[in-house]
Amino acid sequence: MRWLLCAFVVACSEPPKPAAKPAPAVASAAPSPSASVSAEAAKPKLVVHMVPLGDVPLEDLEVAKKGLLAQAPFTIAIEERLALPETARTAEKARYSADALLAFLQHFQAMPRDKVLGVTDVDIVTPKNGVNNWGILGLGDIAGKTCVISTHRMRRKWEAGGGAPEPLVRERLWKISLHELGHTFGLPHCPNKGCLMQDAHGTVKTVDEETALCTDCRARFTEVLR
Ligand SMILES: [Zn+2]
Ligand SMILES: [Zn+2]
Repeated sequence: MRWLLCAFVVACSEPPKPAAKPAPAVASAAPSPSASVSAEAAKPKLVVHMVPLGDVPLEDLEVAKKGLLAQAPFTIAIEERLALPETARTAEKARYSADALLAFLQHFQAMPRDKVLGVTDVDIVTPKNGVNNWGILGLGDIAGKTCVISTHRMRRKWEAGGGAPEPLVRERLWKISLHELGHTFGLPHCPNKGCLMQDAHGTVKTVDEETALCTDCRARFTEVLR
């Protein structure tokens, strides 16, 4: 499986239970032609399942959801909070493996076309440039099911002045969510300057300079969501 690294930079419980389906009351006869037509029309929409991982405030997911909905015709569900899985802990205190989080989210019960976007506030890391635990903003599985983002390097609380201002953090939240979802939709990094699918090249400043999806990337999002 190929995962694409994006920019820079929990206790886990069981994966969510699938919704109980009512058993059919009686054996049904062969569907009538009209029944097949309505089944076709009722083809389910692709749903993005946003999963809070660990202690991340739900408000952050709401902000990301609102921003995503303003960019493309997503159908988004905010799911129940899950504890960060022990399997994602690294040897470094308070840092979690983004790759292990993606593997964990693979277990989330969803329809085949659906996407799962994990959102956490802990520092997430992946191997990069010969460094085992390279802090990142997000990671997405290309043309796959899962992606994950972290607010840790969006807020940058360790910096002088208490980190990034909240309006900027809110913008980063939806931009990075959109970027990682784009990878799960099969989009690679985009060469167009200012496009939200650009490679961040290791700094959140690239994200801040991005404004929107370019025409090509927007068309691809719309096509996948159709
Ligand atoms: Zn990327
Ligand atoms: Zn683009």
